[in-house]
Amino acid sequence: MELRRPPVHLTIALVCLLFVSGSANPPPPYDVIELIPTPATRLHGSSVLRMQRGAPFKIAIFADLHFGEAAWTDWGPAQDANSVRVMSDILDAEKPDFVVYLGDLVTANNVPVANASSYWGQATSPARQRGIPWASVFGNHDDMPFEWPIEWFSGPGIPEVRCPDETNSSCSGEVHYSCSFKGTQRLVLMKNEVEQNAPLSRSKFGPKELWPSISNYVLQLSSPDDPKSPVLFMYFLDSGGGSYPEVISRAQAKWFERKSREINPESKVPEIIFWHIPSKAYKEVAPWFGIRKPCVGSINKESVAAQEAEFGIMDMLAKRPSVKAIFVGHNHGLDWCCPYEKLWLCYARHTGYGGYGNWARGARMVEVTGEQDFSLKSWIRMEDGKVHSEVVLSS
Ligand SMILES: [Zn+2]
Repeated sequence: MELRRPPVHLTIALVCLLFVSGSANPPPPYDVIELIPTPATRLHGSSVLRMQRGAPFKIAIFADLHFGEAAWTDWGPAQDANSVRVMSDILDAEKPDFVVYLGDLVTANNVPVANASSYWGQATSPARQRGIPWASVFGNHDDMPFEWPIEWFSGPGIPEVRCPDETNSSCSGEVHYSCSFKGTQRLVLMKNEVEQNAPLSRSKFGPKELWPSISNYVLQLSSPDDPKSPVLFMYFLDSGGGSYPEVISRAQAKWFERKSREINPESKVPEIIFWHIPSKAYKEVAPWFGIRKPCVGSINKESVAAQEAEFGIMDMLAKRPSVKAIFVGHNHGLDWCCPYEKLWLCYARHTGYGGYGNWARGARMVEVTGEQDFSLKSWIRMEDGKVHSEVVLSS
């Protein structure tokens, strides 16, 4: 394990002090280094959210919205309108303080336009219209090239290219300017989200050394009394997919290790983690058939579709005492939470009308309470208003 180094002058001063005090066999300098408490680095600006005094902090997780699916049909835009309705109803019923868009906001492989940000913007519109801040991570469908539907080649054999755009005009014949089949890269999508939605969007491009994996960042939830006093850290990681392999790399794991040591060196402040594609540990804890205790949930309709490969992030999180839960989407037919070692592995709930599966739509809610008596609770709110699968994640 790499040791965190204190400032050189402090080390020298302490080593000198030990010699002057007459110790015949002073301990080696690395022992001295271990004894020096490392002050936590502070997060600031748009990375900090604040709890309201006397109230819990509530997060709505919207997963797998898949805007732009079958964008060239009447059905596709109608599904997008349904997804907006689901999110709006849930936001109005729960009145959360924050929204997490947990990947697959758009079905980019169905979107033949130069910039899929207009669909991304539709997906975030319910939070934006209500002035609720949010953060987003990428799923495997957000950044993908267009896939030509095979039915376009039936009949005369030459597809009529119909590109949806703001004016809804056809781009067959001479009008090709609005069509693009390359997909919109993660960086462009995220830059557009951040630049067009400050200060509501708290999403970040993440450190450059991790690109093209983009949505890697951390937000701090602060005490109502002191913005410098963290109650919770929320980590967002890009689990890849689309134009990039479905992995969380060793570089991302190292970034998490370094960042968490900087801002939460003693692992005292609770931490929760969001990414899109489940890790293999989800397979280990997945319920067989029905969902029984200690797992909590309502649908278990498919097998876990895990990341292609893993490079250490799960070991790191499982060993770190402050990590309470991981939240993923990706599997639309799963909505359970199960314990894994000393943390919880949770699915969100399929929120969008886009994407496979007709299970009723809903959203996982997460509620953070108190500084002294920290608690983390979760439940699922359905579009018809029903609430189920309540679970305490902090015990
Ligand atoms: Zn999906």
